[in-house]
Amino acid sequence: MKVPLLDLKLQYQSIKNEVEPAMLKVAQSQMLILGEEVDKLEKTIASYCKTDYAIACSSGTDALLMALMAIDIKPGDEVIIPTYSFFATAGVVARLGAIPVLIDSEPVTMNIDVSQIREKINFKTKAIIPVHLYGQCAEMDEILKISNEFNIPVIEDCAQAIGAQYKDGKFAGSLGLIGCFSFYPTKNLGAFGEGGIITTNNKELAEKLKQMRNHGMNPKYYHKFIGGNFRLDALQAAVLNVKFPHLENWHQRRRENANLYTKLFIEAGLSESKGKMIFDNKNKVLIPEAVYENSGCKNYHIYNQYIIRVQQRDKLREFLGKNEIGTEIYYPVPFHGQECFAYLNNNEKDFPVANELSETSIALPIFPELTKEQIQFVIEKIKEFLV
Ligand SMILES: *Cc1c(COP(=O)(O)O)cnc(C)c1O
Repeated sequence: MKVPLLDLKLQYQSIKNEVEPAMLKVAQSQMLILGEEVDKLEKTIASYCKTDYAIACSSGTDALLMALMAIDIKPGDEVIIPTYSFFATAGVVARLGAIPVLIDSEPVTMNIDVSQIREKINFKTKAIIPVHLYGQCAEMDEILKISNEFNIPVIEDCAQAIGAQYKDGKFAGSLGLIGCFSFYPTKNLGAFGEGGIITTNNKELAEKLKQMRNHGMNPKYYHKFIGGNFRLDALQAAVLNVKFPHLENWHQRRRENANLYTKLFIEAGLSESKGKMIFDNKNKVLIPEAVYENSGCKNYHIYNQYIIRVQQRDKLREFLGKNEIGTEIYYPVPFHGQECFAYLNNNEKDFPVANELSETSIALPIFPELTKEQIQFVIEKIKEFLV
């Protein structure tokens, strides 16, 4: 049985009849950049995330870059980020000449360890970027407390977390000053190419960001500040507008898949429950926990990825590959180990959790169209490997 990590063609088949006419309409209109479809998308996403404004842009990376530019991050400023995330989180900071100040991960959620943020704050600290990794919100209560105490803005990296909710059902992207989302095809809401969006409740920032995505221009050919070409194509917005009404259903399917994995791992006796770090038992897997949900709070993990941890990760991956089961490693090298960040002179001993995650985590197929049989097959094969 083939189990790909992700099969976008299945999703395409299910929306083909809606999405093809929408794309054709844009083609026939020849209104190709920004415009009505983009306006509609912005209204939809602002209302979904419960923010006053949403500004569509060219990618999740550009959303983060624009957010940092909008709050005037300058060379030498320090920005606090987790060391374990997709590269863009760190890349945008360094591209502005600012210094990524790296923090280790918390072992259960795999998000930034908030207990280590305070000690890294000084007069140069100009922003904190928590990442809602894999679709589960970072520990925002503590992050917002620190933000208020030191008056440091929070920019949420929501690239993997559109529709994720934190305690009491607050939406990712509505908690900090600015939320940054990606419509990369592998995200829960994916375009047919690149795209992103920024959410905020701050009117002044919303206006600045709108101007920024068009070279800081206003009025035409007059520039008060330097922006860039961060515009979104109408074609992408049209696709996203067709896909959006399906999003909640897709989230639901991912959550059902996650619950089934979890149930089957436990039933098969493979799960090392509540283990925080990797454990002595090399025949077990550590399954992901939707922590706040388990503690009874209203919370919503959207499972952009279902990540398990195992000691013999690379061997397991090879074995699953031989059995036509697709997996991926998010991420094999934390920022402190990246060659391009050697100049930051971080000591890898300061990041024991992220190091372990990078050596033991593996993503299993979780996409909405996955069947029960496929999930059972994945569990069967993992059991065969471990036991
Ligand atoms: C995907 C992703 C980004 C970047 O989004 P793009 O649209 O690919 O530029 C940023 N941060 C995280 C955590 C991501 O997963």
